[in-house]
Amino acid sequence: MSVCENYKEVEKRVEEACKRAGRKREEVTLIAVSKTKPVSMIEELLPLNVRDFGENKVQELTAKAEILPSALHWHMIGHLQRNKVKYIVDKACIIHSVDSLRLAEEISKAAQKKQVTAKILIEVNVAEEESKFGVRTSELLPLIEAISLLPNIAIKGLMTIAPYVENPEENRWIFQKLKNLSIDIKGKNFDNVTMDVLSMGMTGDYEVAIEEGATHVRVGTGIFGERNYTI
Ligand SMILES: *Cc1c(COP(=O)(O)O)cnc(C)c1O
Repeated sequence: MSVCENYKEVEKRVEEACKRAGRKREEVTLIAVSKTKPVSMIEELLPLNVRDFGENKVQELTAKAEILPSALHWHMIGHLQRNKVKYIVDKACIIHSVDSLRLAEEISKAAQKKQVTAKILIEVNVAEEESKFGVRTSELLPLIEAISLLPNIAIKGLMTIAPYVENPEENRWIFQKLKNLSIDIKGKNFDNVTMDVLSMGMTGDYEVAIEEGATHVRVGTGIFGERNYTI
């Protein structure tokens, strides 16, 4: 199947999941995760009006953003090193992967320099997997409170990477938990914190994530095919 055919299939499933959940299609942004994939594959999707792409490496994001039309939205979804923040703070539409105060301070500093307000999500390690980035749920509230005081940063919501599972139903509780955390935080009415964005769900489980309230799903393999990291 071509990239366009894959995309249309994923789009259909997104629509169906929205319908099942009684949600409007416009409530969910389908991010095409193009990491490791060539610019030519991204270009194939542009006639379908696909505008949201996800990358997990700073250099790859900035290189692709430079070549491709400026109307595209680049989502930084990968772990971010502090020394690379300055290269993407005004290129990424949302940084999905903030999990420490030190990183947020660096983003704030770079955003002030470029005179922009950086939109960020806090990455939560809901399943508390040892190998994953993200804050534990117990550390979430104090972190948000601290970041909310920094200039030129807007916390737009939460992000999680659920474990790889055979049956997506196994991850439903994780998506419910992230949604509930966002409701708790919204209730605190911190300055510069809205909880409009819930970035959750990947190729294996995006339909369940939408049923549980995802506003952004990040689909790579389902659109672009398997990634080959050996070349
Ligand atoms: C690679 C990646 C995805 C996409 O994963 P697929 O399983 O290929 O859909 C989503 N989110 C993050 C953070 C990723 O790094």
